[in-house]
Amino acid sequence: MNYRSTRNNTIRKNDKTALLQGLSEDGGLFVLENFNEKKIDLKNLLDKSYTDIAFEVLKLFFSFDESKLKSVIEKAYSKFSTSKVTPLVELKDAYVLELFHGPTSAFKDVALTLLPYLIQLALEGSDQEILILTATSGDTGKAALEGFKDVDQTEIIVFYPKNGVSKIQELQMRTQEGKNTKVCAIEGNFDDAQTAVKNIFLDEELQKKLGKKKFSSANSINIGRLTPQIVYYIVAYIDLVKNKKINLGDKINFVVPTGNFGDILAGYYAKKLGLPVNKLVCASNKNNVLYDFLTTGIYDRNREFLKTISPSMDILISSNLERLLYDLSGSDDKYIKSLMDELKQSGKYQVNTDILAKLKAEFGSGYASDEETSQVIKKVWEEEKYLLDPHTAVAYKVMLEQNLEGETVVLSTASPYKFCTSVANAVLNITDEDEFKLMEKLYEFTKVPVPENLKNLNSKEIRHSDLVKREDMAKYILEAEKCLK
Ligand SMILES: *Cc1c(COP(=O)(O)O)cnc(C)c1O
Repeated sequence: MNYRSTRNNTIRKNDKTALLQGLSEDGGLFVLENFNEKKIDLKNLLDKSYTDIAFEVLKLFFSFDESKLKSVIEKAYSKFSTSKVTPLVELKDAYVLELFHGPTSAFKDVALTLLPYLIQLALEGSDQEILILTATSGDTGKAALEGFKDVDQTEIIVFYPKNGVSKIQELQMRTQEGKNTKVCAIEGNFDDAQTAVKNIFLDEELQKKLGKKKFSSANSINIGRLTPQIVYYIVAYIDLVKNKKINLGDKINFVVPTGNFGDILAGYYAKKLGLPVNKLVCASNKNNVLYDFLTTGIYDRNREFLKTISPSMDILISSNLERLLYDLSGSDDKYIKSLMDELKQSGKYQVNTDILAKLKAEFGSGYASDEETSQVIKKVWEEEKYLLDPHTAVAYKVMLEQNLEGETVVLSTASPYKFCTSVANAVLNITDEDEFKLMEKLYEFTKVPVPENLKNLNSKEIRHSDLVKREDMAKYILEAEKCLK
């Protein structure tokens, strides 16, 4: 199975190399070569479990031995607190797909419990070592650290924006255990961190200094991150059919709280594989660069980076859009390269009218301000006794104002307890207290259970306190790498 770079169709790598490398050497993203020929047969999935469906999907993308693939999928999803993995909850206006029952209470766990095992399979029989570099807007970091902790032949360094993540998210990372883990705050925002990490991947001098250790990525630029996310779109659909909410073949909608465009791209890939989808709705917070793009065809990141109460979506450069545009342009690598060069030089590009028309046919879009987000958290709690996290609430608000035909699923990407300050403020109207006091109060008031991994966080030892400027990240990596084992 081969993958190509979105910026150069002649760069081809087999699935294992694409997985281990993360990003193509020309800066492009890897895409499966004959993806258009791949299809799933929904009828065959009706009586299957989450892990069985995951196996059916992942074997389309990876050529691993089937029994080994099956076994790592089982191992990964046994770490979730429910055997359904991603349960679907019916509310008045939509279904909510809960993606946060993994070890770190964020949807990133769905992919990051599995990715380390996929990397191990790809490393089998080689003595190569992998150094995972990850930029995080809050949730990827912890989920990746937890996934790669003490995995042989791997080390992981996570960079997060100082003051750009929630208190709970920061504590989750700074208390990380494992002898192969490092966590470092940077002075800058998520885009700064992600851009710096991408540049480090392409830095041949630095790579030489690392010897046989090779960089890889746990961000959604890695196909091993993206592909496990296709699964829950299909699982949600099958659930609706099994519960007689829809008939097999009916089209449904998905509303997705979006940052790096990884999650929603997985939905688009599910649709390409044959899932009956009407609209994929891209929901943004005030950093609404994607809303503007999907309505005008102009991508323009030259704007103020705003901090919001949905910090994991505070992103102005959505990496995975590149894969979508590659697909919509009919694999036109030269065109994609020209757009990405423009983005790098001027922070801006405009797609042609053909692509804009396709975007509008496939995607809806909307955005919510912090105030609207809080109002929705309050309203859904009061009317339905269901507690939304701020990211899910952004999507919920956008869902309410769309005119969608058929059933709609809102993707819920995090436990509300990861964002206690904002959620307690919305529901209880209190703010100025310690996060863990708020967590308790929120529990006392709502009786929504607090996930185990968040309960005792404040009594755990702080193990990481590094802070660097973004221009010093490469130097930091060389220093840190020596201490990791
Ligand atoms: C990462 C994240 C998102 C955005 O997902 P993308 O794949 O980056 O679009 C939304 N909500 C939460 C809670 C997240 O952690």
